[in-house]
Amino acid sequence: MSAAALLDAEPTTSTERNRRAGPVLAVDLTAIAANTRVFAERIPGALMAVVKADGFGSGATAVAQTALANGATWLGVTSIAEAVALRSDSITAPILSWLNPVDADIAPAVHTWIDVAVPSAEHLAAVVDAATRMGRTARIHLHADCGLARDGAPASQWRRLCEAASRAERGGHVLVVGVMGHLACADQPDDPANLVGRRAFEQAVATARAVGLRPQLRHLAATSATLTNPASRFDLCRVGAGLVGIDPSNTTSLRPTLTLTAPVVSVRDVPAGTPVGYGHTYVTAGRTQLALLPLGYADGIPRLSAGRAEVSIGGARCRVVGRVSMDQLVVDVGSTPVRPGAVATVFGPGHRGEPSVAEWASWAGTIEHDIVTGIGARVRRILQPATPIGVAVDRVPTVRSRS
Ligand SMILES: *Cc1c(COP(=O)(O)O)cnc(C)c1O
Repeated sequence: MSAAALLDAEPTTSTERNRRAGPVLAVDLTAIAANTRVFAERIPGALMAVVKADGFGSGATAVAQTALANGATWLGVTSIAEAVALRSDSITAPILSWLNPVDADIAPAVHTWIDVAVPSAEHLAAVVDAATRMGRTARIHLHADCGLARDGAPASQWRRLCEAASRAERGGHVLVVGVMGHLACADQPDDPANLVGRRAFEQAVATARAVGLRPQLRHLAATSATLTNPASRFDLCRVGAGLVGIDPSNTTSLRPTLTLTAPVVSVRDVPAGTPVGYGHTYVTAGRTQLALLPLGYADGIPRLSAGRAEVSIGGARCRVVGRVSMDQLVVDVGSTPVRPGAVATVFGPGHRGEPSVAEWASWAGTIEHDIVTGIGARVRRILQPATPIGVAVDRVPTVRSRS
């Protein structure tokens, strides 16, 4: 019997029981809905829900559906593969994909009305080529560098790109739907780079118009700029982190959306002087109890958090001690009575004193985005619905259009 057949033969209840026994990432879709409304109500134009990296680790389709039901009208992702996956889940809202290698297959995007960002003449040529072969018009957004020296076209190449796009548009191969930029320092609202970046963006739009393009959607702001810099909002704001409760500008109270829990696998009594884990980097100071959690750096627990991190067990904060291993970590629970099977909360909204994602980020010397997108695939996701169970959330709102 093949391994696959053996697996099939296993009783579902056993498989299910083992699946349910492990760590869980609970995604609060009600909080995502509330966060979406904060943005939708604040901005004059359209809201694009950015659901790249599997919806910042929360599940791209679930975040997308929740956002679309609460005021977002566009979706944004990096790759065409991510966009196509949303289409496969029956999402019909407009989608923009903004980061693809020149040899990416554009055809599925053109087929299913996925807009693609174009940052260079080479990318434009690839899109025109695909559209020509298909006898279709590709929808594109020209992407200008506004100060990151990263994924948009440098100012020195912008006019040439716009002229080439204008020719392609006249030839019926593309429709230039938008011009996009991105700000480097928006999480620091007072940074002078924000004004420099916005001016660069306005200049890019002016150049596009000067060569005859009429982009309907000018978009520059992501979460921080949307919250702190009204002049950067233009026709559409691309918001990702904010939907999942992260405000890099630290100006707005958003709802935390994630709770990560894990069962205690075992508990041991140890005397003072007991070295713990790889490399013996920690030695117990006194007699204590050590609890084992089945979560490690392969599950997104940052190895660099060792020595600072805490989890919550039975309402008490307990230190993570020794090195974080690939699959497990050890918690010093002191004299608190803890039994195998008890549930440890790694992070959550903080209502019960548990650590927040922001604390984990500071323990690891990183940002919250890094923590939430890093939670590994073997951690089971539970979606806590935003609407009463049984109510469909896959309704697609009409696209708010601007003329
Ligand atoms: C990730 C990303 C966004 C979303 O940024 P947040 O700060 O998470 O809202 C917007 N635009 C681009 C180009 C991005 O890469």
